[in-house]
Amino acid sequence: MQCLDSQFIDNRWVSSRGERYLSVMNPYREETIAEVTAGHPDDVDDAVAAARRALPAWRALSGAHRAVYLEGLAEGLSRRREELARLSSTNNGKVLAEAGIDLDDAIACYRYYAGQAQALDERQGRLVELEMDGVEARCYHDPVGVVGLITPWNFPLVTSAWKLAPALAAGCTVVLKPSEVTPLPERVLAEIAQEIDLPAGVFNLLLGDGEGIGAPLAAHPGIDKVSFTGSNRVGEAVMHAAAERSADISLELGGKSPILVMEDADPEQAADWVMAGIYFNAGQICSATSRLLVHQAVADRLYDALAERIDTLVLGDPLNEGTDMGPLTSARQRENVQAYLAVAEQEGLRAVRDASHRTLPPQGYFVAPILYRDVPTQSRLWREEIFGPVLCARSIANEEEAIKLANDSDYGLAATVVSADRERAARIGRALQAGSVWLNGEQLVLPETGWGGFKRSGIGRELGPWGLSAYLAVKHLVGPA
Ligand code: NAD
Repeated sequence: MQCLDSQFIDNRWVSSRGERYLSVMNPYREETIAEVTAGHPDDVDDAVAAARRALPAWRALSGAHRAVYLEGLAEGLSRRREELARLSSTNNGKVLAEAGIDLDDAIACYRYYAGQAQALDERQGRLVELEMDGVEARCYHDPVGVVGLITPWNFPLVTSAWKLAPALAAGCTVVLKPSEVTPLPERVLAEIAQEIDLPAGVFNLLLGDGEGIGAPLAAHPGIDKVSFTGSNRVGEAVMHAAAERSADISLELGGKSPILVMEDADPEQAADWVMAGIYFNAGQICSATSRLLVHQAVADRLYDALAERIDTLVLGDPLNEGTDMGPLTSARQRENVQAYLAVAEQEGLRAVRDASHRTLPPQGYFVAPILYRDVPTQSRLWREEIFGPVLCARSIANEEEAIKLANDSDYGLAATVVSADRERAARIGRALQAGSVWLNGEQLVLPETGWGGFKRSGIGRELGPWGLSAYLAVKHLVGPA
């Protein structure tokens, strides 16, 4: 078994100052696959110092020059795609094909921001149109400085790509802390950074937990901005820490996203999109469409179609080709989900499919795919993010009610609308409070379109030009023409 006690600082692996260790698990085999350092605040000091030393030279490079390194990271990931997909699947429990999709998304993200870095050169120093005569104003986009990036465990390499790629493109230097639950894929990213000779200190990787690395990083005076993806509880702590020194933040937090199926939808087709929206990655998706609002005219047919599909889902070894759903990523996450299932029992929720309908594999942190119908809107399962394969459904009588219930949530990350009438689907989509709304399809996440939420789902946007802006500070030079 590997013992990983080093941090990646200044393009070198150096021993962590931490003395605590954490087990990294294979959630299917329920085996420890590595011991990693929990990190230490002194590691944060060292990494931040390295990033600060690297900042002047890195920000002085042209965007086109930085783009060469971003292409290098994309190339490195492509070269090691199969190895990384297996590693991610083994560490996270997601099925291998899904891990492959993650790799492709991460690669596309580095490539996209290589293009954005190049385009940034042309945007620098543009004249601003002014009403006043005799005055000239030019607009520049400076990097915000040294950034701390903190990511969760559900999409290793993807959530980090969404932060690291635009931060490097903007000219920021970085300290990245991946989740302690799935730190192995991001370690390989550091190896790739070494292979492509990324200048020392531009990208530093710290392994560890919230106590050893996360909290000290969020609170560090040498960090100009924190970009965080994870739970609301921790996101709010990060926000407090940043507020102490008025530091910039971006937050990508939880969700409780709706999928609306209207009476003109084909229930068989809709069932496929509902399934993908909740059982992909065993439901551990921030944008999981975990609330199904289905028109009463098609509700029973949709529930039947879903039950049929749930019954044929194959749960098992995520590395096997025939597996549709792997285990949850950690024993703790399985406990979290099981606690909600106990609440469902107390609340007397009506299950179309639950654990009683299937035998789980003998090993692994599995939870059966579950579908509850007629869930009251005040149920905790309707209102709170569960982060597992649990779908709550209820029927609606009309479009107005569907929109009202869809928006009746603390969150506003994503939504899906299914209707045979494209204009109607778009009209409903416009009325929903969500950062991404998919119309008649699966959840397509594209590097060119923004990602982020309304309400408690977060602050700011990732991806697209907005993802780059999150790491840029606007500056104007104004003087006589
Ligand atoms: P989490 O909040 O427990 O942990 C996220 C990261 O924060 C981890 O790296 C963790 O080590 C670190 N951390 C823990 N305590 C910290 C502290 N005090 N200060 C700073 N960092 C600290 O979340 P998780 O369980 O890893 O991930 C699941 C959550 O992430 C879900 O709520 C999900 O919705 C959310 N998520 C959101 C998005 C999005 O784009 N909106 C994407 C993926 C996941």
